[in-house]
Amino acid sequence: MQLFTCPFCGPRAETEFHFGGDAGNLRPGGDSETNVWTDYLYFRSNLRGRAREIWMHLACREVFVMERDTVTHEVHATEALAETAAGEHRP
Ligand SMILES: [Zn+2]
Repeated sequence: MQLFTCPFCGPRAETEFHFGGDAGNLRPGGDSETNVWTDYLYFRSNLRGRAREIWMHLACREVFVMERDTVTHEVHATEALAETAAGEHRP
């Protein structure tokens, strides 16, 4: 079993976490075109290699960014969303 590090609780079993999607997939404005909403809701970058993703630690209910390699599953970093610049969730 792999360990993920919650920025608030420390290392925990991967079964305590839930994947939330790509970091940087920002919600479009209410007056956005249909194709913009379609991209937001249904299309993912599905990167091969190093990726920034949103995860939730189910035990503390905190949401954070995890940078990990999607091929090797190596976790490079985790950080609280508050530590990233507002609206700047790097892909
Ligand atoms: Zn936690």
